[in-house]
Amino acid sequence: MAAPSDPNRVVIFDTTLRDGEQSPGCSMNPGEKMEMARALADLGVDVIEAGFPIASPGDFESVRAIAREVRGPIICGLARCNPADIDRAAEAVRDAARGRIHVFLATSAIHREFKLRMTPAEVVKRAVEGVKRARGHCADVEFSPEDAARTELDFLTEVVEKAIEAGATTLNIPDTVGYATPAHYAAVIRHLKTHARGIDGVVLSVHCHDDLGMAVANSLAALGEGARQVECTINGIGERAGNTALEEVVMALRTRQDFYGLTTGINTRLLYPLSRKLSHITGMAVQRNKAIVGQNAFAHEAGIHQDGMLKERSTYEIMKPEDVGIPRTELVLGKHSGRHALKQRVADLGYHLTDEQLNRLFDEFKALADKKKDIYDADIEALAENQLQAGAGNTWTLAGFTSTAGTGSQTSAAVSLRLADGRVERDAAVGNGPIDALFKAVNRITGIEVKVVDYRVRAVTQEIDAQGEAQVEIEYKGKLSRGRAVSVDVIEASALAYLEVINRVASRQLRDRLKPTDHVAPEVVPVI
Ligand SMILES: [Zn+2]
Repeated sequence: MAAPSDPNRVVIFDTTLRDGEQSPGCSMNPGEKMEMARALADLGVDVIEAGFPIASPGDFESVRAIAREVRGPIICGLARCNPADIDRAAEAVRDAARGRIHVFLATSAIHREFKLRMTPAEVVKRAVEGVKRARGHCADVEFSPEDAARTELDFLTEVVEKAIEAGATTLNIPDTVGYATPAHYAAVIRHLKTHARGIDGVVLSVHCHDDLGMAVANSLAALGEGARQVECTINGIGERAGNTALEEVVMALRTRQDFYGLTTGINTRLLYPLSRKLSHITGMAVQRNKAIVGQNAFAHEAGIHQDGMLKERSTYEIMKPEDVGIPRTELVLGKHSGRHALKQRVADLGYHLTDEQLNRLFDEFKALADKKKDIYDADIEALAENQLQAGAGNTWTLAGFTSTAGTGSQTSAAVSLRLADGRVERDAAVGNGPIDALFKAVNRITGIEVKVVDYRVRAVTQEIDAQGEAQVEIEYKGKLSRGRAVSVDVIEASALAYLEVINRVASRQLRDRLKPTDHVAPEVVPVI
């Protein structure tokens, strides 16, 4: 992609599905990734980094499926700077209407010496070869000198110039380890803008991490110096403390248009629904005081503020909640709401469901409306999520359970699970409380033992007949997985959430057994 024709237009490069997804406990299944990719296209992002194709056959398939189906944004695949990675990424994005290959290679002294064991000259040579190879596959190539923020400025400038000469169309300057501060990062970008040959003919990009809490501030400082692409994630998820939060950088540019004079293509009214969707899918809650999308972001509690707000909103409000998609009043559906109203609400909440999924959702909606009077957005989101998970090809489904609880006696649970071929298996167990007994019964049937590291239940909405949401986080072979489910019965919700993680583990066991030997998992997980 050449530099955009409007010099004030900022390219929003979303890496929720790559950098975000690789962080602990944020992994998504292929169906969830596709759903997020469609929602990101609706949001109006310019580029979706869909994954790291060489990492596993699952990653490859997922990037390829998104490249084939999602239209609008450029679909990008990540590759280390070697032929196998680059060719695999090229294959994954080949069918995109517009594809991009993103090649990275570490350039800082510490990475050159301890990770790569390469001299500066060897690094330059490898970078040039990588960019050329990627250009052989695709006209749109991004190059990232990993750990750029800690790279000597003269050497960084040299690498950038050589990558541009070799054909890179976007040059990304990552602060891989979250080391930069706004004034420092601005100086790096300014130096490149004034010294690197050819820099005005490409898009200069930034990729910041939040280790010092400055990812958004650093990104804005770089935009002030002429960078025109920001790499970011929904809710700021990502390695360690996370990446630049998309919603924060976009709303900062919009709210402070007077200062920056820059625009994006984002439909900001979808920011809140998408934030909710991601936190539902990953089970990672957004902190209450999080800027833009946190529960308290627009709440005015102080009396003096409320008085001012009643007289004139702009006395204390720099953004309107509806600008980011937070509804002023929540629409409530009930048992008399029709199929059309429900379908519309599901679409407004940012879900793409098939007709078959919508039909099943409507049946569940009716059943729920018989149990509770008012159905809120959060209830509908929960029903939609259940439909998406039902389509994920689960190995085991819950056929039934009973549990006994009481004081003074041990609790027990009996569970029956259905396999994909229709077979039903039953077992029972005793435990410390009904949930422990239930999980143990599931372990007995599936033969899968995991370590539960977190378990919690909360009400989805606020009335007494609210649906309960159960979240389970487990550890299996050193990796974390989360499961989440909703039901009016919290024990059922717990069983479903637990079964979801058990199914994730089961499919991982299957994948490990079937893993072809020609795709070696990367020895170094990319952390650019
Ligand atoms: Zn990163």
